[in-house]
Formats: sequence, structure tokens, C-alpha cells
Amino acid sequence: MRKRVIAGNWKMNKTANEVKKFVESIREKVPASEKVEAIVCAPFPYLAKLVEDTANTNIKVAAQNMHFEDSGAFTGEVSPVMLKDIGVTHVIIGHSERREFFAETDNTVNQKTKAAHHHGLVPIVCVGESLEQREADETVQHVRNQVTEALKGLSEEEVSQTIIAYEPIWAIGTGKTASSEDANEVCREIRQVVKELTSEDAAEKVIIQYGGSVKPATIDELLSQSDVDGALVGGASLEADSFLSLVEAGT
Ligand code: 13P
Repeated sequence: MRKRVIAGNWKMNKTANEVKKFVESIREKVPASEKVEAIVCAPFPYLAKLVEDTANTNIKVAAQNMHFEDSGAFTGEVSPVMLKDIGVTHVIIGHSERREFFAETDNTVNQKTKAAHHHGLVPIVCVGESLEQREADETVQHVRNQVTEALKGLSEEEVSQTIIAYEPIWAIGTGKTASSEDANEVCREIRQVVKELTSEDAAEKVIIQYGGSVKPATIDELLSQSDVDGALVGGASLEADSFLSLVEAGT
């Protein structure tokens, strides 16, 4: 039985004070459960304090990006070594906003995914098609390619410990959610690619999330699907109560 992983991606939002209040209101309420893992993906300035403030709770802390190099002359970048050093456990890699606005490619996504594993961070690798690709019936091919490129050179063990987030670009921040059947179809396809690349065992273990306008009202149906193991949530993860409802849906 795979764990459900509910991750809130705050994107470029919140002040330090808002983060403090958020953590105060959820710290004691995130359930200790074998079934669900709750992650907050915060902007870099808040990560170290968040790790401290969530110690001994069931909340894990993720970064939203990182560089693949360990250190060096890369002004403005943050390395996996630094994230690990401060106690971050997960990192989002290749979110569509990074691919679109910050020139991330399948190649950088692959290098970052490898670097995350190398340093013991769990990568949450994002894939997903544009509206044009969906309308041209290219969704499956595009997502299969993105997954294949992202996982190149990883061991079977590393693949099985990767989280893959299927986020159709047209559903992000638009209020349009893929139907749970459509979401499941692509998630199933992703599991199939993982199987082809590695093994049935790795495919059974890999966690596949859906993301794109997930709300407390829509998460139950998504989680009831065979191949959707969790959600990567933007807007609806910003408010403490809403985030808690999403996590509770996974229990
Ligand atoms: P929304 O939930 O705001 O659509 O964002 C989804 C997302 O991009 C999470 O990474």
C-alpha cells in the first residue's frame, strides 16, 4: 500500500509572520498517520526556521527548487548540500513555472533529480502538458518523454523513491481540474513508463501525485483513483484550515 503524500506548494507567497501563524495553527493538528505524509514547500528564506518549528511534528519541509551543483560560483543559487544541511527532506524539481519562466529543461530536471538523490533529498518531479498539447492529443507522449528524461541514469532504488507530480499546465491556478478519470489515466501511464524503465516493483512503489486546482472539495475523488497517490496543491494550501482538510482527506 503506497503512502499518500499531500504537499502544499506555496510558490512565491507569504511573509515570515504569515508562515509563523500558519505553522502555529497546523503544528498540533497534522495527524500522525502511516497513511499520509504532509509536506510544505516554502520559499528559501523560510526553510531553516520552518524545519525548526516543525521538529517533532508530522510535517515535512520541502524547497521549491535547487541547483544541481554542490557549491561554487553560481550567484543566487541554492545547492542540495545546503538544503540537506538545514534539514529539508524534499525538493520540487522542474515545476512548469520553472520550465516556463526560468528556462528549466528536461536536462536540468534530470541533473537536479540525480543531485537530489545523491544528497538524500526526495525529489518531487513535475511533469504535465500544455493546453495545446492536450488538444493535439499529445498528452501521453509528452508526459512519457518528460518522465523518461527526468529519470535517466537513476538506479531502480532511486526511481522508486522519487515522487512524480502530474500537473497539467492548463489546470494550474485556473480553477479547471482534470477530471479524476483523466488525471488517473495519465498517472497510470506514468506508472507504466516507470515499469518499462525499471521494474514492476519500482512502479508499484513510486508515489504519483496530481496537481492543478486541487481543492478540499475535489481531493476525495482524486484520491479514490487507483493511481493517484496524493496531491501537489498551490492556492488551496495557503490557508491553514484548507491545508489541513487536504491532509485529512489522505488519512
Ligand atoms: P494550484 O493548486 O494553485 O492550481 O497550483 C498547482 C501547482 O502548481 C502546485 O505545484
